[in-house]
Amino acid sequence: MNIVLMGPPGAGKGTQAEFIKKEYPIPHISTGDMFRDAVSRETELGKEAKKYMDAGKLVPDEVTIGIVEERLAEADCQNGFLLDGFPRTTVQAEALDRVLSSNGKKIDVAINITVPNEILIKRLSGRVSCKECKVVYNLQSNPPSTEGICDKCGGELIQRSDDQGETVAERLKVYQEQTNPLLTYYARQNVLQEIDGNRDSKLVFADIKNRLESLR
Ligand SMILES: [Zn+2]
Repeated sequence: MNIVLMGPPGAGKGTQAEFIKKEYPIPHISTGDMFRDAVSRETELGKEAKKYMDAGKLVPDEVTIGIVEERLAEADCQNGFLLDGFPRTTVQAEALDRVLSSNGKKIDVAINITVPNEILIKRLSGRVSCKECKVVYNLQSNPPSTEGICDKCGGELIQRSDDQGETVAERLKVYQEQTNPLLTYYARQNVLQEIDGNRDSKLVFADIKNRLESLR
């Protein structure tokens, strides 16, 4: 099964990707890992991507799509894959569809994990990390035993500037503006599955599993 996994920051996408990976024998392809892999193997596209990354710039679509295409051509993707972090725009989704259809394939399901904004803001702005060992805590779901102090090393807990309330709201707004057309795109193809992510992560996964089983 060829799956695209989507969800705003804080929706628990990483956790669900782990669950899916354990349940189904398909590779989990995150854009970050894919870039790092192409760069470290020094493929032509990897070298190209590195130029942009080193300059602190966004890697252009044609390079990103090339890297995705190379990755999807590998043997472990022949029975399906879980794409995470790609596509981010309809332009990328269309390019992905072209790559897949030239190999007689398509996206079977696009899973979108939804969580109300006020909950996302609460989750994300609750993130603090240790100044010393960098361990991450969440004041709502995984608080340290003593406020402000790391359980592991006793270091001071601080909040990253991009996890502060207003910045989080802005990040979500940007994400939604970018992603809404993509949701429409997959809805039109009848492959969009919206999953309520405002529940215990095991319940969220049970729901995802049910939907995937019904599509088999
Ligand atoms: Zn620490």
